[in-house]
Amino acid sequence: MKLVLATRNLGKVNELTAMLSNEQKHKDLQLLSLQDFPDAPEVVEDGETYQENAIKKATIIADYTGFRTLADDAGLEIDALDGAPGVHSKRWAGEDATDAIRIEKLLAALEDETNRNARFVAAIAIAEATVSISNNVVDDTTIHKEVSVTKNVQVVVGICDGYITNTPVGDSGFGYDPIFVPDGYDKTFAELGDVIKNQISHRSHALRSALKLL
Ligand code: IMP
Repeated sequence: MKLVLATRNLGKVNELTAMLSNEQKHKDLQLLSLQDFPDAPEVVEDGETYQENAIKKATIIADYTGFRTLADDAGLEIDALDGAPGVHSKRWAGEDATDAIRIEKLLAALEDETNRNARFVAAIAIAEATVSISNNVVDDTTIHKEVSVTKNVQVVVGICDGYITNTPVGDSGFGYDPIFVPDGYDKTFAELGDVIKNQISHRSHALRSALKLL
């Protein structure tokens, strides 16, 4: 079965591919990504929730490719900031901000704050567009084609609780990984590395639930 990963981010393609290859039951999945569909539409992530954004991306890309499509949206929620940056995690520090700038802004916002509790949240949507075409012969020469599209989309959420450190530590991963320590560990995601992160992360929890839908 073909499954399109609705992302151009190579890091995310690698992460999802690694997680899926650990799932014995889904070894037969043939993974594609937006690298295979260079002209696929850009999807604006303007939803108010992770679920809205994931559903929007999965539906638009499933329509475009004609294949079952998986899309995710994620963010970091910090209790002391009333859940910010949350669904705006990517653009919170400005459209062109680097990961280092995002981290700097976040640590500055938490200066002197003792409540460092936080969580990563990920939504994963799987969408499928089934196209059926029926031919109605109108007269001897005209065939009227009726095209109907049935959409099926489901969404699941995964959470990873933890806390925010005072300084960034570690080189692996991306985004806020150097300042997030997951519950049960005393190292950041960036120190723990991909193998452990992929077992316990918000996206891996969501992915496991999503795979049950396939
Ligand atoms: P996206 O929706 O997965 O692209 O996530 C939006 C933003 O949330 C990213 O640009 C990162 O800043 C942050 N983020 C999401 N997931 C992670 C993660 O696993 N580690 C670190 N940062 C993340």
